[in-house]
Amino acid sequence: MNPTQITTTKELLSSSKKIAIIPHKNPDGDAMGSTLALAAYLNKKGHEAVVVAPNEYPHFLKWLPGDSDVLFYTSNTGNARKAITTADLIFTLDFNHFSRAGDLEAELDKVSAPFIMIDHHQQPDTYAAVTYSDTSMSSTCEMVYHFIKSLGDEDVITADMASCLYTGIMTDTGSFRFPSTTATTHEVIAALIKKGANNDQIHQNIYDTNSESRLQLLGVALSNLVVLREYRTAYITISQKELDDHKFQKGDTEGFVNYCLSLEGIIFAVIFIENKADRIIKMSLRSKGDFSVNELARAHYHGGGHTNAAGGKSDESLEETVAQFKALLPTYKEQLT
Ligand code: 5GP
Ligand code: MN
Repeated sequence: MNPTQITTTKELLSSSKKIAIIPHKNPDGDAMGSTLALAAYLNKKGHEAVVVAPNEYPHFLKWLPGDSDVLFYTSNTGNARKAITTADLIFTLDFNHFSRAGDLEAELDKVSAPFIMIDHHQQPDTYAAVTYSDTSMSSTCEMVYHFIKSLGDEDVITADMASCLYTGIMTDTGSFRFPSTTATTHEVIAALIKKGANNDQIHQNIYDTNSESRLQLLGVALSNLVVLREYRTAYITISQKELDDHKFQKGDTEGFVNYCLSLEGIIFAVIFIENKADRIIKMSLRSKGDFSVNELARAHYHGGGHTNAAGGKSDESLEETVAQFKALLPTYKEQLT
């Protein structure tokens, strides 16, 4: 944060406030880790802070300290709305535009209280009184650590807060391997372990809690793998039937797309997941190097994200979506070959 942002934030937090903290729709480890850590910090500082999530998150995040206090707009609409409409201050974390907040978008549009944004996605919107946006950051969790430190409150970080922040840094960096992982990221991680984050246990909670059906779904996904060597591209499809046959639970397909990128010579990977209830094909896009999946997702799939990790969707059928995708690749031939 720059000095002006620190001053404005200190002013906004100078007296006890009612605060709502919002993660993006389909919250991931970074969204939940950052919002829960920030809520714990603000409550410790004498504010009344609550996390209001647009919808549920995967079971492998349910152990996060503070989970039971989260208000879900999907299942607890009245209380979630009230927390937003009565808030003196609203934090939005790990997203750059209200449209990323799902059904909460309409509620946020009506708010007159000031906002503070903490986020590492490209092209941040301009709704906030304080826009702490840094696309070079590994994760919003790393930013929340810097945020608390900038306010002079590193000592306020508890073991529970450290566990939340460790989780989001770990998940958003692919366990500290993506290029966004810097020396500073590792320094923050070291500080969080010193504060009591149990790193071994957190890795187990996130990565070693698979069901048999989830592993079998991974088997199906891998057998659906298509490699397009001429474009250094690989993709996976999963149909609604394949999800149903394997008792799909939220979060089960997390990380599947990365298997495409583990193929030697592949720099662009996509997973297409059919969602019959929402009548869309949800896409996760990944790349290595300079090829921007953020730009591609923005241009063609109503989406966005980061240079090397983005999401989007298509309103066509699974077959048509894949056919259109293959037809699109020649446009990017220069960047992909
Ligand atoms: P994932 O593929 O893991 O869902 O998301 C990868 C990255 O892209 C994350 O940073 C996520 O916030 C972002 N993202 C995922 N879906 C969308 C989308 O539909 N729109 C935008 N703007 N970003 C997305
Ligand atoms: Mn993130």
